[in-house]
Amino acid sequence: MPATFTRQFDTPAYKGKVTVNTGLFINATGTLITKISAASAKDVDIAVQAAHNAYKTSWGHKVPAYERGRLMNKLADLMEKHAEELSALEALDAGKQYFFAKAVDISATIQNFRYFAGWADKNHGKTIETSEAKFAYTRHEPIGVCGLIVPWNFPLLVASWKVAPALACGNAIILKPSEMTPLTALKVAELSVEAGFPPGVINVLPGYGSVAGQALTEHPKVGKISFTGSTLVGRKIMETAARTNLKRVTLELGGKSPSIIFDDADLDQAVKWASMGIFMHNGQVCAAGSRIFVQEGIYDAFIKAFATASKSLKLGHGFDPSITQGPCVSQTQMERVLGYIESGKQEGATLLSGGSRLGEEGYFIEPTIFTDVKSDMKIVREEIFGPVAVIAKFKDEAELIEMANDTVYGLASAVYTQNINRAIRVANALETGGVWVNQASLPDFQVPFGGVKQSGYGKEMGEYALESYTVVKAVQVNLGAQL
Ligand code: NAD
Repeated sequence: MPATFTRQFDTPAYKGKVTVNTGLFINATGTLITKISAASAKDVDIAVQAAHNAYKTSWGHKVPAYERGRLMNKLADLMEKHAEELSALEALDAGKQYFFAKAVDISATIQNFRYFAGWADKNHGKTIETSEAKFAYTRHEPIGVCGLIVPWNFPLLVASWKVAPALACGNAIILKPSEMTPLTALKVAELSVEAGFPPGVINVLPGYGSVAGQALTEHPKVGKISFTGSTLVGRKIMETAARTNLKRVTLELGGKSPSIIFDDADLDQAVKWASMGIFMHNGQVCAAGSRIFVQEGIYDAFIKAFATASKSLKLGHGFDPSITQGPCVSQTQMERVLGYIESGKQEGATLLSGGSRLGEEGYFIEPTIFTDVKSDMKIVREEIFGPVAVIAKFKDEAELIEMANDTVYGLASAVYTQNINRAIRVANALETGGVWVNQASLPDFQVPFGGVKQSGYGKEMGEYALESYTVVKAVQVNLGAQL
C-alpha cells in the first residue's frame, strides 16, 4: 500500500526533513520480498544539494587524490566482506543465479572498484610548451555532481562501471538504480558510510524513471548524466539534457549483437560460446549475441549442436545450485518476450526449439531458437532482451558483413574462426563498439566497453572511462611580455 514517512537528517551535507513514499518491490518469482522508498523530485533535489555541498567542501580537489583511492579500496574491501549478502540480494532481486551473481556480478564489481581506485591519483594533465616564453598546462578536473542511471539486468555491476570512475575522478554521485532492482545499491550506500566517505559524496536514490530519473536529468546542478538502459529512454535523456542545462550525457543503450560462425570455427567452442552469448542470464544482456550468422558449410552441424546445448540448460530458482538459467525479471518482461516469440511464428520463422513459458509460477521462458529468419522480421530487427536466438545462413564474408551491419544497433559482436587474418578483417568491418574473437560477451574491467550507432556513445571501463568523468581545463601562461 502506498504510504509516506518522514525522517529528520542532520549531517554536514544536509540538515532537514525528508519525506519518502514507499513503493512495492516484487522479485522475479512473483513473491513480494520487501517494500522500499521511491524518491520524489523533492528527494532528488535534496540529494543533489547534498552532493553539490560535498563536492565543494570535502571531495574533488579538496581531498588528496590518493585519499579518494584509499576510500574506494576500503569500500571494495567491505564489499568483499559482504560478498555473500550482496550476491544473495542480487539473486533475490534480479532473479539471477546466486553463484553467477557471486562469481560475475559481485566479484567484477569489486575488481572494478580496485582498478579505478588505482587511477584516482594518476588521472592528471599535461604541460605543453608552446614557445620559449610561453607554456600551457591542462588540468583534469571533475565535472561536479554526476547522475548515474542504471538498469536491472546487472544492477550493481553496471552501477560500478559508472560509480567507480566517477569517484576516482573526484565527482560526487547520485546513483539511481532501476525500480526493479535497488537492493544491492542500497547496501553499498550503507557500506560507503562505514568506509568513511564524506557525507553527500555517494547518494543512492531508488525510484521510478519517470519521476526520480527525470528529475535528476532535469536538475541544473547535475553536470553529467551517465545512463545505461534502453535506446528509447536514452533518447529522452538527451532531449531533457539539451532542453535544460546542456549537461554532458553518455549513453550505453540496447543492442542486437551478431554472433558469427565461420566454416573453419572450432564447432564445440563456437556452440559453447554462442550459447552462452545469448542464453547467459536468460538473454537479459545488452551485448547478447541474439543474431547468429552461420556459414553454409557448418550450418547443419552447428544448429543441431546448438539446439542440443540449449535443451541442456536448466531453469529454476536462483538459489538452486544445479540451475543454469533464472527467470525473466518481471511479468511485464516475460510477456514482452513471449510477444516477440509469437511474432516470430506469425512472420514465418521456423521455431527450432523452445518457445513457451515454463510452469505457471515465476517468469520462466524456455531457451528459444528460430531459424529461416528474414532481415525484415521483428525478431531480427528489435532487441528482445530474453532467451531468444535467431539464426541465419550466409555464403561468404561480403554477404556476412552486409547482414551483420544491417541494424540500427552497434554494441558488440562475436566472431568465431581459426583464421586470424579473417578474424581481424571482419572485426575491422563490423560496425560495433566492441568485437570478441572466439568468445562471447565477457567485458573486462581493463578494456573499454560501449556502443556506436543507436547503441549509444561513451566508453565504460578501462582508462577510456576516465574521459567520461573529467573536464579538461587548459591554462596558458606568458612568462614574459610576448604577444
Ligand atoms: P530502461 O531504459 O527502461 O531503464 C533504465 C533506467 O532508466 C532505469 O533506472 C529507469 O528507472 C530509468 N528511466 C526510465 N525512464 C526514465 C526517464 N524518463 N528519465 C530518466 N531515467 C529514466 O531499461 P531497462 O529495462 O531497465 O534495461 C534494459 C535495457 O538496458 C536494454 O535495452 C539493454 O540493452 C540496456 N542495457 C544496456 C547496457 C550497455 O552497456 N549498453 C547494459 C545493460 C543494459
